Amino acid sequence: PPSYLKLQKMSTSHKAHCLILPFQGQSHINPMLQFSKRLQSKRVKITIATTKSFLKNMKELPTSVSIEAISDGYDDGGRDQAGSFVAYVTRFKEIGSDTLSQLIQKLANSGCPVNCIVYDPFLPWAVEVAKNFGLISAAFFTQNCAVDNIYYHVHKGVIKLPPTQDDEEILIPGFSRQLAIGYTFVIVPEAERILEMLVNQFSNLDKVDWVLINSFYELEKQVIDYMSKIYPIKTIGPTIPSIYLDKRLHDDKEYGLSVFKPMTNECLNWLNHQPINSVVYVSFGSITNLEAEQMLELAWGLKNSNNNFLWVVRSTEESKLPKNFLEELKLTSGNNKGLVVSWCPQLQVLEHESTGCFLTHCGWNSILEAISLGVPMVTMPQWADQPTNAELVKDIWEIGVRAKQDEKGIVRREIIEECIKLVMEEEEGKLIRENAKKWKEMARNTVDEGGSSDKNIEEFVSKLMSTSH
Ligand code: UDP
Repeated sequence: PPSYLKLQKMSTSHKAHCLILPFQGQSHINPMLQFSKRLQSKRVKITIATTKSFLKNMKELPTSVSIEAISDGYDDGGRDQAGSFVAYVTRFKEIGSDTLSQLIQKLANSGCPVNCIVYDPFLPWAVEVAKNFGLISAAFFTQNCAVDNIYYHVHKGVIKLPPTQDDEEILIPGFSRQLAIGYTFVIVPEAERILEMLVNQFSNLDKVDWVLINSFYELEKQVIDYMSKIYPIKTIGPTIPSIYLDKRLHDDKEYGLSVFKPMTNECLNWLNHQPINSVVYVSFGSITNLEAEQMLELAWGLKNSNNNFLWVVRSTEESKLPKNFLEELKLTSGNNKGLVVSWCPQLQVLEHESTGCFLTHCGWNSILEAISLGVPMVTMPQWADQPTNAELVKDIWEIGVRAKQDEKGIVRREIIEECIKLVMEEEEGKLIRENAKKWKEMARNTVDEGGSSDKNIEEFVSKLMSTSH
């Protein structure tokens, strides 16, 4: 280890100091922020290293942890300035090692040296930085273990993505049955290079001390057992604020960072006036865009389902709504009332007793949140890991149905209507609704004292404490 580690003394209240390096994007930072809060509650000091441009765009900053800005080479415009996702990652790699090293040095000089880096494996170069300074390194995967297992097997050359027509069903070791990954990784511009980046997450994973995964053991036993034989895996999720789960962290109201401003009062006031379990909550997350034709089908599917709905349509998507849709909604009364908002406090919405089901694009954070709050799902995955997540929801955990696309890749209004009715009210959906409640209980137990994720976090913290200087 460099000499500064020996010279500097850790402040007396903390025995270990973790530097957290997330990938720039709220659905990457937020799980790491929640994990950080758990570490901090166990007396680990936390510093989150984010980029200058990301910090500038945040609507609110967390007060519970220290944040430091490093440069990714795009200090003014961030990822947008880079032009493409891949260009961004490449540039960040070029200058990230230096800027991260400078930060580690600065923290050491300020009397609080770091002894561990928890990094997002989208930024695999962080391992080298950790090694140079003699620090513990831990990769933090924001996807579930099943999806990581798929990318691992692509890395090993066992399977190819995107799949061809012939290999729609591929048996992946660690799964109890064939997992339909046939729909995984739909081609989008840049998809092949993004896939390369996903696969690269494993390029130096054999050098890390820990592999942390935002999932929990009970959810993916078989695949976790399988992957644990290859890597030092520890599941530490769900990374949902403690107030929604075990309630052991006091004053844990802060969800995280967002570039969007939630319409909290509008959403919660409106939900407060709807009957119990009467609302379909609809969101496609922070980046997914729908085709205009799909928006139209969705709008009519929601209307025709004859249920109330709360639909998040980001402002950049609003022009795709059917003509007069918003005006007509305001005039609707009785059943089938709808509210469209540009962003909502999703956890509070999922927790609300009026919410009966979640129509989701299957981003992993959204799924974990729905599981943690016991909300059954209608899935409409679009790309990347979302189709795999949708299959897990439907077949493995049996907490939702998948609304199937037609040959043009559009989910039609009749299908959407049918799926919503099944999950919301029909006898056929009873098991799904019951299973959702069971998983909620398990999600809480896993982070509660002695639960599987709690034990893993404890083990990680003990290791940090024992190796701190
Ligand atoms: N989210 C939110 N309000 C919204 C829509 C989404 O707070 O109106 C949050 C949601 O709780 C989740 C994140 O945004 O934590 C979306 O992450 P996910 O992995 O589901 O999807 P992505 O945005 O990465 O596609």
